Amino acid sequence: MIILFFLIMAIGAFIIIGFLTKTDNVNELKKTDASGGNDYMYDRIVAITFDDGPCSRTTNRLLDGLKERNVKATFFLVGENAESNEKVVKRMYEEGHLIGNHTYSHIKLDECNISSAVGEINKTNEIIKSITGEDVKYIRPPYGAYSDKLLSHVNMTPVLWSIDPDDWATTDTAYVVKNVVYKVKNGDIILLHDIYDSSVEAALEIIDRLSSKGFVFVTVDQLMLD
Ligand SMILES: [Zn+2]
Repeated sequence: MIILFFLIMAIGAFIIIGFLTKTDNVNELKKTDASGGNDYMYDRIVAITFDDGPCSRTTNRLLDGLKERNVKATFFLVGENAESNEKVVKRMYEEGHLIGNHTYSHIKLDECNISSAVGEINKTNEIIKSITGEDVKYIRPPYGAYSDKLLSHVNMTPVLWSIDPDDWATTDTAYVVKNVVYKVKNGDIILLHDIYDSSVEAALEIIDRLSSKGFVFVTVDQLMLD
C-alpha cells in the first residue's frame, strides 16, 4: 500500500516537472519569436539596465566601458540627478543608450497621491527631454511600486526586471557577477545601479562573461518589441 502511494506520488512529480519544463520552453521560444524580426537571429538576448543615476564619476566610467565593448544599455534616471549631471545624460543619449524615467526624487509612487506622482514623473520627463530633445517613453517605478490608476494618467510603459543581484547592498563584485551570470537566460532584464563603483565593475565583468557565452545586449525597447 505504502509502495503504491509513493509510486503515485513519483508519477505525479514527473508529470508536474515535465509540465513546468515544457512551459518554460514555450516561453523561451515565444520570446525568441517575439523578438524575431530582422535583427533577431539570436537566442540569447538580454537587457542590462541601470537605476538611480546619473552620477558623474561612476556613470562616466560605466559609459567608457560600454563604449569599449560596443554595448547599449538602458538607464532609468532620477530627475534630480539628471538635472545636476546634464553632460552625462547628453553623453548617454549620444552614445545610443536608452534613457528612461525613475521619478524626480526616487519616491514610492504607490504611497503618494496621484497628482504628486504624476508631477514627479512629468518633471523628470521634461528634464530629460530638455537635454536629449526626445520624449521619454519608459518608466521604472522605484521599488517596482506603481498602480494601474497612475499609469492611466501618464502615457508611459513600465519596465521592471527579472534578475536582481542586490548590487546596492554589497561591494562584493564577484558576488554580484555570480548572481547574474549563473541565473541569466534569454529575454532577461538585469537590474544594476550605476552610482556605485562596485556595481560598475560588476556590470562590465557581467558583460564580458555573458558576451563570451554568446549573449547579445539590447536596450529594453528592443526586448519589448512584440
Ligand atoms: Zn531606484
